[in-house]
Amino acid sequence: VTTVHAVGIDVGGTKAYGVALDAGLNRIGELRLPTPNDPDGLVDVLARIAEHLGGDGPVGLGVPGLVRRDGVLVSAPNVAGLRQSPIRELLAERLGREVRIDNDNTLAAVAEWQVGAGRGVQEMVLVGLGTGIGGGYISGGQIRRGTNGFAGEFGHMVVDPTGPECPCGRHGCWERFASGSGLAYLARLAAVKGQLRGVLQAVGHIDAIRGEHVRTAAGDGDAESLAVIDTFARWMALGLMNLTNALDPELIVISGGLSDDPELFLPPIERHFRHAVFAGEDRTLPRIAFAELGPSAGAIGAALLSLGY
Ligand SMILES: [Zn+2]
Repeated sequence: VTTVHAVGIDVGGTKAYGVALDAGLNRIGELRLPTPNDPDGLVDVLARIAEHLGGDGPVGLGVPGLVRRDGVLVSAPNVAGLRQSPIRELLAERLGREVRIDNDNTLAAVAEWQVGAGRGVQEMVLVGLGTGIGGGYISGGQIRRGTNGFAGEFGHMVVDPTGPECPCGRHGCWERFASGSGLAYLARLAAVKGQLRGVLQAVGHIDAIRGEHVRTAAGDGDAESLAVIDTFARWMALGLMNLTNALDPELIVISGGLSDDPELFLPPIERHFRHAVFAGEDRTLPRIAFAELGPSAGAIGAALLSLGY
């Protein structure tokens, strides 16, 4: 019988996904259940997942929100059952086990660093592309959480103060241009200008254009879609340039929805990035790699959190 060494659960807006790891950090169990939209239901589901996975040590929880260093969840606007709910205490009481909680992208960074694309690296930035952009960073061989625990909110770096409004209240945040929804925004902008005719014809209406339409058409060689991908890559590179100028990492890991298509995205991002970084000709540029753990990174990171990362 393999002993359960660590248990972690990633709480997403629609699914909660838990993993059990053995002492070699191999996945030996998993369970995915829908995320209920009320706090009581959520505690039930998380308890069921933890009990199914077994073990008797601490349980790690990854959540899409701001988590203070002392483990208090401050804000999680996208998961109804987490809002205003002391989920960590409730689950700990229910399970009779310690529960540790942190931001999901911080934990994805820990997972990629320990068992994914960033193994052996001391200076690493993770940029997680979803509806928005989350992130995490490792420096001096340690995950960095900042003063409050909120470090890594790279998506809200303002890259164009005259740009589109962000749910955070600012204008022109990086994630308005360079996330999954950013790609859709850039595609609709191109369609408004009379470009992207093939996609528009297939989809029928500008408002219906999604990022995946552009990806599919670009994969088929559609020149106007490839031009949108190139614009997207330029915005990506702009943010990666800011991060590189500020943090000087050895490795940048891109995770999230686009990381299953590195052939389409990586070459143009690298090309724009090379030209954008300060003293780019005279320095060693960070490597850019796509994540290795896919959507499991948050849960694996949560399991690592239970071990004390
Ligand atoms: Zn913002």
